[in-house]
Amino acid sequence: ALIAFNSYVLLLVFPLRMTSFLVAQLARASASATRVHEILATETEVSDRPDAIPLPGGAGEIRFEGVTFGYLPDVPVLRDLDLVIRPGESIAIVGPTSSGKSTVARLVPRFYDVEAGRVLIDGVDVRDVELASLRDAVSMVFEETFLFSDSLRANIAFADEDAPEHAIERAARLAGCQDFVAALPDGYDTLLGEHGYSLSGGQRQRVAIARAIVANPRILILDDATSSVDAQTEAEIKRGLQEALSDRTTFIVAHRLSTISLADEVVVMDEGRIVDRGSHKDLLVRCPLYREIADHGLADTTFLQSDLEEREEVAKL
Ligand code: ADP
Ligand code: MG
Repeated sequence: ALIAFNSYVLLLVFPLRMTSFLVAQLARASASATRVHEILATETEVSDRPDAIPLPGGAGEIRFEGVTFGYLPDVPVLRDLDLVIRPGESIAIVGPTSSGKSTVARLVPRFYDVEAGRVLIDGVDVRDVELASLRDAVSMVFEETFLFSDSLRANIAFADEDAPEHAIERAARLAGCQDFVAALPDGYDTLLGEHGYSLSGGQRQRVAIARAIVANPRILILDDATSSVDAQTEAEIKRGLQEALSDRTTFIVAHRLSTISLADEVVVMDEGRIVDRGSHKDLLVRCPLYREIADHGLADTTFLQSDLEEREEVAKL
Protein backbone atom coordinates (compact mmCIF):
# COMPACT_ATOMS: atom_id res chain seq x y z
CA ALA A 1 0.00 0.00 0.00
CA LEU A 2 2.87 2.34 0.83
CA ILE A 3 4.57 1.74 -2.52
CA ALA A 4 1.29 2.20 -4.38
CA PHE A 5 0.59 5.43 -2.46
CA ASN A 6 4.04 6.82 -3.31
CA SER A 7 3.66 5.96 -6.97
CA TYR A 8 0.30 7.72 -7.14
CA VAL A 9 1.75 10.84 -5.50
CA LEU A 10 4.60 10.88 -8.02
CA LEU A 11 2.10 10.52 -10.87
CA LEU A 12 0.14 13.48 -9.54
CA VAL A 13 3.08 15.88 -9.32
CA PHE A 14 3.30 16.68 -13.03
CA PRO A 15 -0.44 17.25 -13.70
CA LEU A 16 -0.67 19.48 -10.63
CA ARG A 17 2.32 21.55 -11.74
CA MET A 18 0.81 21.80 -15.22
CA THR A 19 -2.50 23.00 -13.79
CA SER A 20 -0.91 25.81 -11.82
CA PHE A 21 1.15 26.76 -14.87
CA LEU A 22 -2.02 26.88 -17.00
CA VAL A 23 -3.85 29.00 -14.44
CA ALA A 24 -0.99 31.52 -14.48
CA GLN A 25 -0.95 31.50 -18.29
CA LEU A 26 -4.68 32.02 -18.41
CA ALA A 27 -4.43 35.18 -16.34
CA ARG A 28 -1.69 36.56 -18.59
CA ALA A 29 -3.51 35.61 -21.77
CA SER A 30 -6.73 37.27 -20.69
CA ALA A 31 -4.89 40.50 -19.78
CA SER A 32 -3.17 40.46 -23.19
CA ALA A 33 -6.41 39.71 -24.98
CA THR A 34 -8.02 42.74 -23.34
CA ARG A 35 -5.22 44.95 -24.61
CA VAL A 36 -5.32 43.52 -28.13
CA HIS A 37 -9.07 43.98 -28.16
CA GLU A 38 -8.70 47.64 -27.11
CA ILE A 39 -6.51 48.25 -30.13
CA LEU A 40 -8.73 46.33 -32.55
CA ALA A 41 -11.79 48.17 -31.30
CA THR A 42 -10.23 51.65 -31.66
CA GLU A 43 -12.10 53.79 -34.17
CA THR A 44 -9.60 55.25 -36.64
CA GLU A 45 -9.76 59.02 -36.81
CA VAL A 46 -9.19 58.90 -40.51
CA SER A 47 -11.78 56.81 -42.33
CA ASP A 48 -13.65 56.63 -45.63
CA ARG A 49 -16.47 59.08 -46.17
CA PRO A 50 -19.78 57.37 -46.94
CA ASP A 51 -19.62 58.76 -50.48
CA ALA A 52 -15.90 58.03 -51.01
CA ILE A 53 -14.86 57.16 -54.55
CA PRO A 54 -11.89 55.09 -55.73
CA LEU A 55 -8.94 57.33 -56.63
CA PRO A 56 -9.34 58.13 -60.33
CA GLY A 57 -6.38 57.34 -62.58
CA GLY A 58 -3.82 60.03 -63.22
CA ALA A 59 -0.17 60.80 -63.65
CA GLY A 60 0.55 61.53 -60.00
CA GLU A 61 0.33 65.27 -59.42
CA ILE A 62 0.47 66.30 -55.75
CA ARG A 63 -0.89 69.66 -54.68
CA PHE A 64 -0.94 71.17 -51.18
CA GLU A 65 -3.24 74.20 -51.01
CA GLY A 66 -3.00 76.43 -47.93
CA VAL A 67 -2.44 73.42 -45.66
CA THR A 68 -2.41 74.05 -41.93
CA PHE A 69 -1.89 71.04 -39.70
CA GLY A 70 -0.75 70.17 -36.18
CA TYR A 71 -0.69 66.95 -34.17
CA LEU A 72 -1.93 68.72 -31.05
CA PRO A 73 -4.61 71.43 -30.95
CA ASP A 74 -3.15 74.95 -31.10
CA VAL A 75 0.35 73.72 -31.98
CA PRO A 76 0.51 74.11 -35.76
CA VAL A 77 3.31 72.16 -37.40
CA LEU A 78 2.56 73.24 -40.98
CA ARG A 79 1.26 76.72 -41.61
CA ASP A 80 -0.54 77.76 -44.77
CA LEU A 81 1.67 75.53 -46.89
CA ASP A 82 1.43 75.58 -50.68
CA LEU A 83 3.34 73.03 -52.73
CA VAL A 84 2.84 71.61 -56.20
CA ILE A 85 4.71 68.57 -57.47
CA ARG A 86 4.15 67.95 -61.13
CA PRO A 87 3.48 64.42 -62.39
CA GLY A 88 6.65 62.37 -62.65
CA GLU A 89 8.73 64.98 -60.89
CA SER A 90 11.00 64.09 -57.99
CA ILE A 91 11.40 66.54 -55.17
CA ALA A 92 13.90 66.47 -52.32
CA ILE A 93 12.72 68.06 -49.10
CA VAL A 94 15.47 69.33 -46.84
CA GLY A 95 15.33 71.31 -43.65
CA PRO A 96 16.40 71.29 -40.02
CA THR A 97 15.09 68.56 -37.69
CA SER A 98 11.44 69.15 -36.71
CA SER A 99 10.83 71.50 -39.60
CA GLY A 100 7.88 69.33 -40.72
CA LYS A 101 9.37 67.29 -43.58
CA SER A 102 7.95 63.96 -42.41
CA THR A 103 4.64 65.64 -41.63
CA VAL A 104 4.29 66.84 -45.24
CA ALA A 105 5.06 63.29 -46.39
CA ARG A 106 2.49 61.74 -44.03
CA LEU A 107 -0.33 63.94 -45.31
CA VAL A 108 -0.10 62.55 -48.84
CA PRO A 109 -1.36 59.01 -47.96
CA ARG A 110 -3.72 60.74 -45.49
CA PHE A 111 -2.30 59.39 -42.24
CA TYR A 112 -3.87 62.54 -40.76
CA ASP A 113 -6.50 65.02 -41.89
CA VAL A 114 -5.51 68.64 -42.42
CA GLU A 115 -7.03 71.39 -40.27
CA ALA A 116 -7.30 73.89 -43.07
CA GLY A 117 -6.62 73.78 -46.80
CA ARG A 118 -6.52 70.68 -48.98
CA VAL A 119 -4.20 67.97 -50.22
CA LEU A 120 -4.99 66.93 -53.78
CA ILE A 121 -3.74 63.99 -55.81
CA ASP A 122 -4.39 64.42 -59.52
CA GLY A 123 -6.92 67.10 -58.68
CA VAL A 124 -8.93 65.02 -56.18
CA ASP A 125 -9.01 65.83 -52.46
CA VAL A 126 -7.51 62.86 -50.56
CA ARG A 127 -10.47 63.05 -48.13
CA ASP A 128 -12.89 62.24 -50.94
CA VAL A 129 -11.30 58.96 -52.01
CA GLU A 130 -11.31 55.46 -50.55
CA LEU A 131 -8.31 54.99 -48.29
CA ALA A 132 -7.46 51.59 -49.77
CA SER A 133 -7.21 53.01 -53.28
CA LEU A 134 -5.25 56.04 -52.06
CA ARG A 135 -2.71 53.86 -50.28
CA ASP A 136 -2.39 51.57 -53.29
CA ALA A 137 -1.29 54.62 -55.24
CA VAL A 138 1.17 55.92 -52.64
CA SER A 139 4.11 53.91 -51.27
CA MET A 140 6.06 55.18 -48.34
CA VAL A 141 9.45 54.05 -47.05
CA PHE A 142 10.25 55.13 -43.52
CA GLU A 143 13.52 55.38 -41.70
CA GLU A 144 12.50 52.42 -39.53
CA THR A 145 11.38 49.37 -41.42
CA PHE A 146 9.18 46.59 -40.15
CA LEU A 147 10.11 43.17 -41.45
CA PHE A 148 7.74 40.27 -40.93
CA SER A 149 8.86 36.87 -39.65
CA ASP A 150 8.72 35.47 -43.13
CA SER A 151 11.02 34.84 -46.07
CA LEU A 152 12.91 37.70 -47.70
CA ARG A 153 10.88 37.02 -50.84
CA ALA A 154 7.55 37.42 -49.00
CA ASN A 155 8.81 40.58 -47.31
CA ILE A 156 9.70 42.16 -50.65
CA ALA A 157 6.48 40.99 -52.30
CA PHE A 158 4.34 42.32 -49.44
CA ALA A 159 2.27 44.62 -51.67
CA ASP A 160 1.72 41.99 -54.33
CA GLU A 161 1.85 38.39 -53.15
CA ASP A 162 1.64 37.12 -56.71
CA ALA A 163 4.53 39.21 -57.96
CA PRO A 164 6.55 37.12 -60.44
CA GLU A 165 10.09 36.11 -59.53
CA HIS A 166 11.69 38.48 -62.04
CA ALA A 167 9.78 41.47 -60.59
CA ILE A 168 11.05 40.65 -57.09
CA GLU A 169 14.60 40.23 -58.32
CA ARG A 170 14.45 43.45 -60.34
CA ALA A 171 13.19 45.39 -57.30
CA ALA A 172 15.89 43.86 -55.13
CA ARG A 173 18.53 44.78 -57.69
CA LEU A 174 17.32 48.38 -58.05
CA ALA A 175 17.30 48.77 -54.28
CA GLY A 176 20.85 47.42 -54.01
CA CYS A 177 19.93 44.20 -52.16
CA GLN A 178 21.63 41.71 -54.47
CA ASP A 179 25.04 41.76 -52.77
CA PHE A 180 23.76 40.79 -49.34
CA VAL A 181 21.06 38.44 -50.70
CA ALA A 182 23.81 36.39 -52.34
CA ALA A 183 25.44 36.02 -48.94
CA LEU A 184 22.28 34.88 -47.13
CA PRO A 185 22.10 31.15 -46.30
CA ASP A 186 18.98 30.49 -48.39
CA GLY A 187 18.96 33.54 -50.67
CA TYR A 188 15.43 34.86 -51.15
CA ASP A 189 14.01 32.01 -49.06
CA THR A 190 15.92 33.02 -45.94
CA LEU A 191 13.57 33.61 -43.03
CA LEU A 192 13.81 37.12 -41.61
CA GLY A 193 12.49 38.95 -38.62
CA GLU A 194 11.98 38.10 -34.99
CA HIS A 195 12.80 34.42 -35.24
CA GLY A 196 14.75 34.54 -38.46
CA TYR A 197 17.89 36.05 -39.81
CA SER A 198 18.43 39.61 -38.68
CA LEU A 199 19.56 42.24 -41.14
CA SER A 200 21.47 45.44 -40.40
CA GLY A 201 19.70 48.80 -40.46
CA GLY A 202 20.99 49.62 -43.92
CA GLN A 203 19.98 46.20 -45.28
CA ARG A 204 16.49 46.54 -43.80
CA GLN A 205 16.12 49.92 -45.46
CA ARG A 206 17.08 48.43 -48.82
CA VAL A 207 14.50 45.65 -48.40
CA ALA A 208 11.91 48.36 -47.70
CA ILE A 209 12.85 50.21 -50.88
CA ALA A 210 12.57 46.99 -52.88
CA ARG A 211 9.15 46.42 -51.30
CA ALA A 212 8.03 49.87 -52.42
CA ILE A 213 9.29 49.26 -55.97
CA VAL A 214 7.30 45.99 -56.23
CA ALA A 215 4.18 47.93 -55.22
CA ASN A 216 4.70 50.03 -58.34
CA PRO A 217 2.97 53.11 -56.89
CA ARG A 218 2.01 56.31 -58.67
CA ILE A 219 3.69 58.27 -55.90
CA LEU A 220 6.75 57.14 -53.98
CA ILE A 221 7.82 58.73 -50.70
CA LEU A 222 11.24 58.05 -49.22
CA ASP A 223 11.42 59.55 -45.73
CA ASP A 224 15.01 59.25 -44.56
CA ALA A 225 14.90 55.88 -46.27
CA THR A 226 18.63 55.64 -46.86
CA SER A 227 19.83 57.12 -43.58
CA SER A 228 21.45 53.86 -42.42
CA VAL A 229 22.89 52.94 -45.79
CA ASP A 230 26.53 53.95 -45.97
CA ALA A 231 27.52 56.60 -48.48
CA GLN A 232 29.28 54.12 -50.76
CA THR A 233 26.33 51.71 -50.96
CA GLU A 234 24.03 54.67 -51.44
CA ALA A 235 26.08 55.77 -54.42
CA GLU A 236 25.78 52.20 -55.76
CA ILE A 237 22.00 52.07 -55.38
CA LYS A 238 21.65 55.57 -56.80
CA ARG A 239 21.46 54.32 -60.37
CA GLY A 240 18.88 51.72 -59.38
CA LEU A 241 16.84 54.39 -57.66
CA GLN A 242 17.13 56.62 -60.69
CA GLU A 243 15.57 53.87 -62.76
CA ALA A 244 12.91 53.20 -60.13
CA LEU A 245 12.06 56.89 -59.83
CA SER A 246 11.84 57.69 -63.49
CA ASP A 247 8.35 58.84 -64.48
CA ARG A 248 7.11 58.45 -60.93
CA THR A 249 6.24 61.34 -58.67
CA THR A 250 8.68 61.12 -55.79
CA PHE A 251 9.22 62.82 -52.46
CA ILE A 252 12.67 62.29 -51.00
CA VAL A 253 13.47 63.44 -47.49
CA ALA A 254 17.22 63.07 -47.16
CA HIS A 255 20.34 64.54 -45.72
CA ARG A 256 22.99 63.39 -48.10
CA LEU A 257 23.87 65.20 -51.27
CA SER A 258 24.01 61.96 -53.26
CA THR A 259 20.34 61.24 -52.48
CA ILE A 260 19.26 64.83 -52.92
CA SER A 261 20.91 64.90 -56.33
CA LEU A 262 18.41 62.22 -57.46
CA ALA A 263 15.72 64.87 -57.32
CA ASP A 264 14.79 67.31 -60.04
CA GLU A 265 14.25 70.09 -57.52
CA VAL A 266 14.91 70.81 -53.86
CA VAL A 267 12.35 72.28 -51.48
CA VAL A 268 13.78 73.90 -48.35
CA MET A 269 11.56 73.82 -45.24
CA ASP A 270 11.87 75.62 -41.95
CA GLU A 271 9.38 75.73 -39.07
CA GLY A 272 6.52 74.32 -41.10
CA ARG A 273 6.95 76.67 -44.01
CA ILE A 274 8.56 76.39 -47.40
CA VAL A 275 11.44 78.79 -47.50
CA ASP A 276 12.65 78.26 -51.04
CA ARG A 277 12.54 75.88 -53.97
CA GLY A 278 14.93 75.38 -56.82
CA SER A 279 17.90 73.45 -58.11
CA HIS A 280 20.78 72.55 -55.79
CA LYS A 281 23.07 75.05 -57.54
CA ASP A 282 20.62 77.95 -57.45
CA LEU A 283 19.76 77.33 -53.81
CA LEU A 284 23.43 77.29 -52.82
CA VAL A 285 23.72 80.76 -54.28
CA ARG A 286 20.53 82.34 -53.00
CA CYS A 287 19.29 80.48 -49.91
CA PRO A 288 21.35 80.99 -46.72
CA LEU A 289 19.50 78.21 -44.84
CA TYR A 290 20.22 75.72 -47.62
CA ARG A 291 23.87 76.76 -47.61
CA GLU A 292 24.01 76.16 -43.90
CA ILE A 293 22.37 72.72 -44.21
CA ALA A 294 24.64 71.85 -47.13
CA ASP A 295 27.73 72.85 -45.15
CA HIS A 296 26.84 71.09 -41.92
CA GLY A 297 24.36 68.37 -42.67
CA LEU A 298 24.98 67.18 -46.17
CA ALA A 299 28.73 66.85 -46.08
CA ASP A 300 28.83 65.01 -42.79
CA THR A 301 28.76 61.35 -43.73
CA THR A 302 31.67 60.24 -41.56
CA PHE A 303 29.42 59.80 -38.55
CA LEU A 304 26.91 57.79 -40.55
CA GLN A 305 29.66 55.60 -41.95
CA SER A 306 31.00 54.66 -38.53
CA ASP A 307 27.48 54.24 -37.17
CA LEU A 308 26.71 51.87 -39.99
CA GLU A 309 29.81 49.76 -39.47
CA GLU A 310 28.89 49.42 -35.84
CA ARG A 311 25.39 48.25 -36.78
CA GLU A 312 26.72 45.72 -39.28
CA GLU A 313 29.00 44.36 -36.55
CA VAL A 314 26.07 44.00 -34.19
CA ALA A 315 23.99 42.31 -36.89
CA LYS A 316 26.78 39.80 -37.50
CA LEU A 317 26.97 38.93 -33.83
P1 ADP B 1 11.07 66.47 -39.57
O1 ADP B 1 10.68 65.23 -40.32
O2 ADP B 1 11.30 67.66 -40.44
O3 ADP B 1 12.22 66.26 -38.65
P2 ADP B 1 8.45 66.17 -38.36
O4 ADP B 1 7.51 66.42 -39.47
O5 ADP B 1 8.67 64.76 -37.95
O6 ADP B 1 9.83 66.90 -38.65
O7 ADP B 1 7.94 66.95 -37.07
C1 ADP B 1 7.52 68.29 -37.09
C2 ADP B 1 7.01 68.65 -35.69
O8 ADP B 1 5.88 67.87 -35.38
C3 ADP B 1 8.01 68.43 -34.59
O9 ADP B 1 7.94 69.53 -33.71
C4 ADP B 1 7.55 67.17 -33.92
O10 ADP B 1 7.86 67.21 -32.56
C5 ADP B 1 6.07 67.19 -34.14
N1 ADP B 1 5.52 65.82 -34.30
C6 ADP B 1 5.90 64.92 -35.24
N2 ADP B 1 5.19 63.78 -35.14
C7 ADP B 1 4.34 63.94 -34.09
C8 ADP B 1 3.33 63.13 -33.49
N3 ADP B 1 3.05 61.89 -33.95
N4 ADP B 1 2.66 63.64 -32.42
C9 ADP B 1 2.92 64.89 -31.98
N5 ADP B 1 3.85 65.71 -32.51
C10 ADP B 1 4.57 65.26 -33.55
MG1 MG C 1 11.45 63.26 -40.30
